[in-house]
Amino acid sequence: MSEIIKKGGISVETEHIFPIIKKWLYSEKEIFLREIVSNACDAITKLRRLSSLGEADFSGETFRIDVKIDKEAKTLTVSDNGIGMTAEELEKYICSIALSGALDFINKYEGENDSGSGIIGHFGLGFYSSFMVSDKVEILTKSYTDAPAMRWTCLESGEYEMEEDERDGRGTDVIMHITDDEKEFLEAYKIREVLEKYCSFMPVEIYFDDGEEHKDGDGNVIIPEPINDTAPLWLRAPSECTDEDYKAFYRKVFHDYKDPLFYIHINADYPLNFKGILYFPKLTNEYSSLEGEVKLYYNQVFVADNVKEVIPEYMLMLKGVLDCPELPLNVSRSYLQNSGYVAKLQAHISKKVADKLAGMSTNDREGYEKIWADIRMFIEYGCIRDTKFRERMKDSMLLCLTDGKCVTIPEYLEAAKEKHENTVYYTTDKVAQAQYISMYNAEGIDVCVLDTVIDSQYITQLEADGSGVKFLRVDTDVASAIKSDEKAEENEKIADVFKKVSGNASLEVKFEALLDESTPVLLNTSEEDRRFADMMRMYGMSDMPNEQKLSLIVNVKNALIKKLGEQLDASDESADVLAKRIWKLALLSFRRLDGDELKDFLNEFYGVLGE
Ligand code: ADP
Repeated sequence: MSEIIKKGGISVETEHIFPIIKKWLYSEKEIFLREIVSNACDAITKLRRLSSLGEADFSGETFRIDVKIDKEAKTLTVSDNGIGMTAEELEKYICSIALSGALDFINKYEGENDSGSGIIGHFGLGFYSSFMVSDKVEILTKSYTDAPAMRWTCLESGEYEMEEDERDGRGTDVIMHITDDEKEFLEAYKIREVLEKYCSFMPVEIYFDDGEEHKDGDGNVIIPEPINDTAPLWLRAPSECTDEDYKAFYRKVFHDYKDPLFYIHINADYPLNFKGILYFPKLTNEYSSLEGEVKLYYNQVFVADNVKEVIPEYMLMLKGVLDCPELPLNVSRSYLQNSGYVAKLQAHISKKVADKLAGMSTNDREGYEKIWADIRMFIEYGCIRDTKFRERMKDSMLLCLTDGKCVTIPEYLEAAKEKHENTVYYTTDKVAQAQYISMYNAEGIDVCVLDTVIDSQYITQLEADGSGVKFLRVDTDVASAIKSDEKAEENEKIADVFKKVSGNASLEVKFEALLDESTPVLLNTSEEDRRFADMMRMYGMSDMPNEQKLSLIVNVKNALIKKLGEQLDASDESADVLAKRIWKLALLSFRRLDGDELKDFLNEFYGVLGE
């Protein structure tokens, strides 16, 4: 061993730094490995750059990083064949710069209770995070220049020694002496797990040696493979990636074996520089979590999972990877929440999703219709929340008709323009409103199904946008859609008897000549009143549309109505009974009967059967 050429203490700051490192980074100790491995990566990247600048020639080299556990010595070592450090550089980068970074860190965060784990690398504390798990760390490094190799040894207390040493070739070993409390980091499974989490896509091959020899079935030693993919899919040009590449990547990274519904590959250079792949997962049932998973990378180094902040709130179910070299490594939550950059990211992602769907709706209509049922709710919700998104999606929103066909809103309106301009007829319940639907269909009018709470908010929003399109439920204003041109004569007696049997003296009774002669009466409510009632129901305030505002359409073409008229003219007492029965049936086809009404109804009609 050579003579110690430098002894020192990471003095003033020591008392501050080490306790803080231990205290604040407690919750995410494993981050130390990411820091040390990405330093090794950087050291190799620097060397490659020197080579490409022609300052040195390393063109024939294979660069690699080795992570090795030695259980006996209780060490975890990360080695690279990168740029290495001279004595001066050790002094400068490890002892001083890192510490000034550390001081910033302390000044900024001392006294705050917030976990500091997100800030560590940002302040150049990266290397020192090794002390979260070690009581001694050695650096054995040999610069690519002809300076001698150096060994730097630092204790938990902050005292360090530096001496000349030997190293087999250029590069750096960071030897961490793991404390007894953290001996998990000497376990192969743990190190593998942490490497996979943080280093899976780093740009230099990383090999993991767990200290054991692994043999295959024939007794041959297995040649180790790098644990990472140095050229992740998101960095490739989209034109070079196949559908299967995207799906395989999805399975591998998210362990989801159901194919995603669609995906987008973002490859933005300007004005935002970020790359990534986002997937819209197939959500199988109502129990599957709606929460997606977006992994954030910084130049291929994993930074965080579930960075909700970068995804528009209505797209939280997306899964994917985003590599944002413009974000500081180890961004904090509060940075993300307040950053204008993040807002731009969100806007860009939203635009990409809309572009993708719009493209599908024209170029791959069949595929688009197939996924529509699964994505509809999310897309409508997005349209409600984000005007720009709504504007971009407006020609790609599909309406699903009662017969199962799907059309875009412009297609629907175009096909219907002769019969009902700018009006979309819809049903919220195909079964309960079947009678109305069939009357529309008989007139050649298509009815679409809009049966979720989100649908109703979405169409209200669309109408408010002022394009003139109006949505009418099939039981709204029925008469105007399906009446004949014939003039219908008012009949005061009939109006009165319905007011009487309904128990509602202010019931509005209108007379129309409906095209469909088989229906005697129809209950009708205004679209506004009904939507208001729906909204009240949503907030748990009331259950039924305001029946005071119902109107009854009497079909003068219907035989029963003619009979009722005759009975009334003849002052026949059975008119009341007939009117009551017609009213009950109308009610039944309009809405669900409540308990007493139903009992009453059944009794009455059992009676009819006995007549
Ligand atoms: P940061 O990586 O944020 O700069 P670190 O504390 O992790 O902060 O590292 C400080 C500096 O030490 C690095 O910038 C680099 O110059 C040097 N360094 C660390 N690890 C290595 C390594 N494996 N090889 C060469 N230099 C290194």
